[in-house]
Amino acid sequence: MHGTIVEGVQPHRTWAEIDLDAFGHNLAVARARAGAGVRLLLVLKADAYGLGAAGLWRYAIRAGVGAIGVGTGAEAMALRAEGAEGDLVVLGSLIADELDGCLRSDVQVGVQDSHQLGQLQAAAARLGVSARVHINVDTGMGRLGTSLTRAPELLRQALGAPHIEVAGLMTHMADPAGWSPTTRAQLLRFQGIVDEARRMGGFRGWTHAYNSATLFTAPDLVGDTVRVGIAAFGAMPAGLSTDPPLRPVLSWHTQVGLVKTLEPGATVGYGSEWRAPARTRLATLPLGYADGLRGTLGGRGEVLVRGQRAPIVGRVSMDYTTIDVTGVPGVSVGDQVTLIGEQGSERITLEGFARRASTIGYEITCGLGQRVHREYVGGELEVPTQVAPSTAVPAPRQEAVEPTSFDKVNP
Ligand SMILES: *Cc1c(COP(=O)(O)O)cnc(C)c1O
Repeated sequence: MHGTIVEGVQPHRTWAEIDLDAFGHNLAVARARAGAGVRLLLVLKADAYGLGAAGLWRYAIRAGVGAIGVGTGAEAMALRAEGAEGDLVVLGSLIADELDGCLRSDVQVGVQDSHQLGQLQAAAARLGVSARVHINVDTGMGRLGTSLTRAPELLRQALGAPHIEVAGLMTHMADPAGWSPTTRAQLLRFQGIVDEARRMGGFRGWTHAYNSATLFTAPDLVGDTVRVGIAAFGAMPAGLSTDPPLRPVLSWHTQVGLVKTLEPGATVGYGSEWRAPARTRLATLPLGYADGLRGTLGGRGEVLVRGQRAPIVGRVSMDYTTIDVTGVPGVSVGDQVTLIGEQGSERITLEGFARRASTIGYEITCGLGQRVHREYVGGELEVPTQVAPSTAVPAPRQEAVEPTSFDKVNP
């Protein structure tokens, strides 16, 4: 549990605790923000950003998530093998080898151009199925998606293809901080394509553009579906916060493996980069960069032990990391050490941890190694389906807005 220090022998060298109650709370906050009738597509790509899709998807479905997004064909297959039914979308692009498996398992896929559409049409015809596709429109992200000028033609092609069902129109936002002139411009372009699709007739798919940052910062809702990843895990990019606040889902722990006393001048770790300035109590932790503890934290990071902060000294190595516990009385072998999370009144947030490592929260959670045991706690309680909408942050409107209404907003 957050804030508690587990006494006694720890069964794992390092473990990530994943709080399902916090996850449920965050999903409810996201749903309240999106508004009634808006579909929440939970993004569980990269094994749920490293937290473990297998441990989360069932709970998410119970919590009212309407669809799940993944990154690859293999991730989609794994969820289907676990028994995940319903709308499952590979958000990006498939490689040729992934096509048949996804089509056989009724996995929906993003489509970026007419070549991909042709491949999908051919494979679906061969398998005697219908390929459900989301036409991805590049409104400014540049990475995937069809250009704005080609989007109507691609959509027309898709609507006319016998083995294609247009399940959605999507775009992706480039600004990690959410609402900005760039985001606004992207949304206006997207709304333009959605309007054109409606005029064209025959399009009845979902429309989706928002990620976590956009959902919590844009003044109005564009689309009928929002794609939420990081917010569900209780973090926000770019230092954004939400009201009501999200709850951190991840905490990350290890234990003291060894305590040593170093004489002044003794050096620690590869390259002997740290030298004991005085007599030093050193604790060695049984995890390293192979577990996802970034090398950039060598000589810069901090951990919590016995409710106090202790600095990481020397380089982080593959299996071990060293901390200076001279200032923390009584540290002994087996003590729980917290890398991300709370101990007593001290707390290290994912965002703060990532900042110290010169990276972002997404990279930290995705980098949690295979040796980090995932422990799921909570989730026995009834899943919260509603959070009182806050007054400070009005929920966006449920109807897709006309482009002109965005013009009234000062970004
Ligand atoms: C990862 C991803 C998201 C989710 O982004 P968050 O910032 O984690 O909410 C949404 N859409 C697409 C296309 C993505 O790849």
